[in-house]
Amino acid sequence: MKYTSCIHLEHGITFFSNSVQICCISSHPGGGNIMQIANYHGEPVNWAEIFEKRKLMRDGLKKSIIPQKCTGCYYLKDQEWNSDNYFDEVLIGHFTHCNCNCIYCYTEKDKKFFNNNKTYNIYPVIKDMIDKGILSKKSTITFGGGEPTILSEFEELVYLLLDYDVYNIRIHSDAIKFSPAIEKGLQLGKITLITSVDSSSEKIYEKVKNVPCFNKVWENLKHYAEAKNGLIRTKYVLIPGVNDNLREVKNWMQMTYDSGIRNIAFDIEDNWFKENRKKIPKYIYVIFDFVNNCFKQYGLDSCELYERASNLKIDRDNSF
Ligand code: SF4
Ligand code: SF4
Repeated sequence: MKYTSCIHLEHGITFFSNSVQICCISSHPGGGNIMQIANYHGEPVNWAEIFEKRKLMRDGLKKSIIPQKCTGCYYLKDQEWNSDNYFDEVLIGHFTHCNCNCIYCYTEKDKKFFNNNKTYNIYPVIKDMIDKGILSKKSTITFGGGEPTILSEFEELVYLLLDYDVYNIRIHSDAIKFSPAIEKGLQLGKITLITSVDSSSEKIYEKVKNVPCFNKVWENLKHYAEAKNGLIRTKYVLIPGVNDNLREVKNWMQMTYDSGIRNIAFDIEDNWFKENRKKIPKYIYVIFDFVNNCFKQYGLDSCELYERASNLKIDRDNSF
C-alpha cells in the first residue's frame, strides 16, 4: 500500500546508551527521538512487543497520521512500503566514549561523564536479531556514537556482521585507531567508512579535534584506502568561525584524492545550524556550492550531504 512513511519508521532501530529508539534524526521541526524502550541497558529485547508497537504506528500512517516527532523530516516519503517484521536500518550508537575531542561533539558538554559513561555489550543483542531472523541481510548497519573502534566488542561484532554477509556496514570512526576488522570489511566491499577530518592542515585539525593526531589519521586512511573495494568518505563538518576557509576546504578535497580515497561527505555544525537556519550567510552557500558542485573536478566520485547540509539545500530549493 502507498502511504507516507520513512525507512526508519518502517524497519529502523537505534540503540543508544540508555534507550532504544527508531532513529537518530533530530534537526527537523518535530525533533525526532521516538522511543521504543526507555531505560535500556542491553537487556534481551522483547521483539514481539516492538513489532506490535510498529504495527500500531503503521496503521496510523496508513490513515495519514504522521507522528508529531516526524513533522518536517526530510526522510518522509510517499511510496509503497513492506510491512513485514524485520529490521534493515540499524544504528549502533550505545557508546559515548571517544579518543578524540571535537569541539562540536555533543560529548563536549561533559567529556569526563561521556568518556566514563557505562556502556553495555551489544554483541548478544545483534546476535539475537540474527538468530531470530529479524535482521535483514539487506540491512545498513551504522556505527555512530563515540568512537566505535575502542569498543571492547567492536572487532568481534564487525566480523559477526561480515560472516552474516550483511549488505552494508557504515562506520563513523575518527581513524585514530587502526582496525583490522574495518580493513577486512573494506577488502570485502561490505564497509563504508566515514571519517570526519574537518580540515586539511594540522593547525585547523587540532583546533577542531583537540588531539595531535592529524598525521596518524591520514596515515590510517591511506592504509584503509589500499583495501580498494570498500567505500571510504572523508567528511568535513563546516564550523563557522573555525574551519570555514575555502582554501582549507579545497585542500581537504585534494588530500582526500591524494590519499587514494574517492568519496567525501559534507555537513554543517549542528548547534550553529539550528541557531542560524533562517539567516544563513552567503559565504556558507559559496562553500556549500563549491563542495557540492566541484568535487568531480578533484577526481572524486561522490559527495554525500549529511543532515544539516541536506536541510540547507532543501531550505534554499524551497525558497525559490
Ligand atoms: S520521519 Fe524522520 S524523525 Fe521520523 S522516524 Fe523517520 S527519520 Fe526519524
Ligand atoms: S570523533 Fe565523533 S564521537 Fe569523537 S569527539 Fe569527535 S564527534 Fe565526538
